[in-house]
Amino acid sequence: MKVVITSQNEGKIIEFRNMLSKSGLEVISQAEYMPEESINVIEDGKTFAENALKKVTIFPATSECIFMGDDSGLEVEALNGAPGVKSARYAGPNASGKELCETLLKALSGIQDRRARFTTVIAIRWGAHVDTVSGSIEGIIAEKMCGEGGFGYDPVFIPDGYQMTFAEMSSEEKNAISHRRKAIDRACRVVEGGRSIEILSD
Ligand code: IMP
Repeated sequence: MKVVITSQNEGKIIEFRNMLSKSGLEVISQAEYMPEESINVIEDGKTFAENALKKVTIFPATSECIFMGDDSGLEVEALNGAPGVKSARYAGPNASGKELCETLLKALSGIQDRRARFTTVIAIRWGAHVDTVSGSIEGIIAEKMCGEGGFGYDPVFIPDGYQMTFAEMSSEEKNAISHRRKAIDRACRVVEGGRSIEILSD
């Protein structure tokens, strides 16, 4: 069975491919599935799930393949869940990771409660079935940026149980515990099960 990852982000497609190939699934990108059409979903949902669902329901139903679309972001307790679904645009359009981190650190300046959570929701669609699975990791926002690895908010996110940011970890270390990893694992379980038995989440 083919799995179409409904994203134009090459890094994300590679990550899905690595994990789903263990389940004997062939992973292709939406560009490979529909080479003539460029489908770009506007992420204007109020939740990660809304955006993820949008990314799979935009494709015509078929029993020949499984569609998977995801949405992720960072939610900060003291900011009432911001940046949330606006994580990528929190510092304006096309902001760099450094700009995102700086904007967040400024918003949290002088605030003691630094609790935060990364979440990924994956929507899975095959035939008439549509399911969502999610993965989260809890942590705190550091006082300053640390580390060179990763992307986005990695230099300011310290996962619970660690003394370092995601950006200070090796990619293997981060990918073993990340929100995305948990969500992809759960998506594998749904697909391996052949049908949805439950909504899996933290
Ligand atoms: P996406 O939906 O996976 O593209 O994530 C949206 C935005 O959330 C990204 O542009 C990042 O700013 C942020 N984000 C999501 N996952 C991570 C992560 O693992 N590390 C750092 N930032 C992330």
